[in-house]
Amino acid sequence: MGVRAWIEGWPAVRQIAGRDPLGRGAAAKSDRSRMLRARTEDADRMVRSVCPYCAVGCGQQVYVSGERVVQIEGDPDSPVSRGRLCPKGAASHQLVTASDRQTAVRYRRPHGTEWEDLDLDTAMDMIADRVIETRRRTWEDTDENGRVLRRTLGFASLGGATLDNEENYLMKKLYTALGAVEIENQARI
Ligand code: SF4
Repeated sequence: MGVRAWIEGWPAVRQIAGRDPLGRGAAAKSDRSRMLRARTEDADRMVRSVCPYCAVGCGQQVYVSGERVVQIEGDPDSPVSRGRLCPKGAASHQLVTASDRQTAVRYRRPHGTEWEDLDLDTAMDMIADRVIETRRRTWEDTDENGRVLRRTLGFASLGGATLDNEENYLMKKLYTALGAVEIENQARI
């Protein structure tokens, strides 16, 4: 590289001599930053979604490549958040891609001190048995004055903030159909 090219490579020289006197554009770019490309550039498609973490419901653009989520950004078209995400929402990419994400069913027996892995079928059978038994045991058809209740207070649902809209919709339907009245989600807290 010649001396002239070397000097012209200095950001301050580019700022004074070029068309970027405030140094907020081309003058501030290094060779390396000029080579950088957005993670979203090679995405196959973008899907609009809603951040699941809290009740604000910020709009998200989810970029997918090879059927894998490669980036999640704020959706400028959302009237709620207008392209912004808080740090939690901006990190929701890791919700689906983090390598230490828990994917097996973990179970700690009553009085147990260690967690153990269960296969999904076994866990589903255990849950179904307990729901049916609890519902039978705690069902209230009427109150002491004969007024119709048709409910159980034997179990409740507290959903996590990583459940999406569709999952929450199905959970509300299921628990209401079972007669539960205490149905809540952490995102409303
Ligand atoms: S967690 Fe943050 S990004 Fe997500 S909905 Fe709430 S405020 Fe918006």
